[in-house]
Amino acid sequence: MSECADRVRALIRDVVDFPKPGIVFKDLTPVLSDGEAFASIVDALVERFEPMRPTRVVGIEARGFILGAPVAYRLRAGFVPARKKGKLPWQTESIAYELEYGTENLELHRDALGPDDRVLLIDDVLATGGTAAAALSLVAQLGAEVVGAGFIIELGFLNGRSKLTGVEPYSLVTY
Ligand code: AMP
Repeated sequence: MSECADRVRALIRDVVDFPKPGIVFKDLTPVLSDGEAFASIVDALVERFEPMRPTRVVGIEARGFILGAPVAYRLRAGFVPARKKGKLPWQTESIAYELEYGTENLELHRDALGPDDRVLLIDDVLATGGTAAAALSLVAQLGAEVVGAGFIIELGFLNGRSKLTGVEPYSLVTY
């Protein structure tokens, strides 16, 4: 596992001042384009969460789709996209949350989850935790149970995990 984390850490590219001045963007594209590294992060998430028996994986737009879909496939769980406002065609459950500047909206299809579901939340980066916390609230609004939250990268100095009540987030690489 730590071998996987070391390899992934070495591949993550820091892009300074993207998308705006003062942000160091953690670029995962070199990890995704390395076949062994990509497989190892999917395998690590599957190993960690298989015992929780998730019935659905909720991936957060857009990089959470890239990671969540193969995890869902390997777990034989359904995949549910959490999308930005106005992208989902059917009836939605919606939540507004604060970003550094202004607000953002996240949505799930109303019929995508129900009380029988055990949900694994997947995204690429846990930063301030606002996005993941909003996704967890949406899952709760639909009556489903959250059994895990997995990330490739956690920016520990932003303490996003403190926003994720009721679930202990798991991250492969922490800064
Ligand atoms: P958060 O602040 O936890 O709500 O992060 C929001 C979203 O922005 C996450 O889904 C991440 O994909 C992305 N994100 C935040 N900070 C970074 C960063 N430094 N590098 C790459 N992605 C980031």
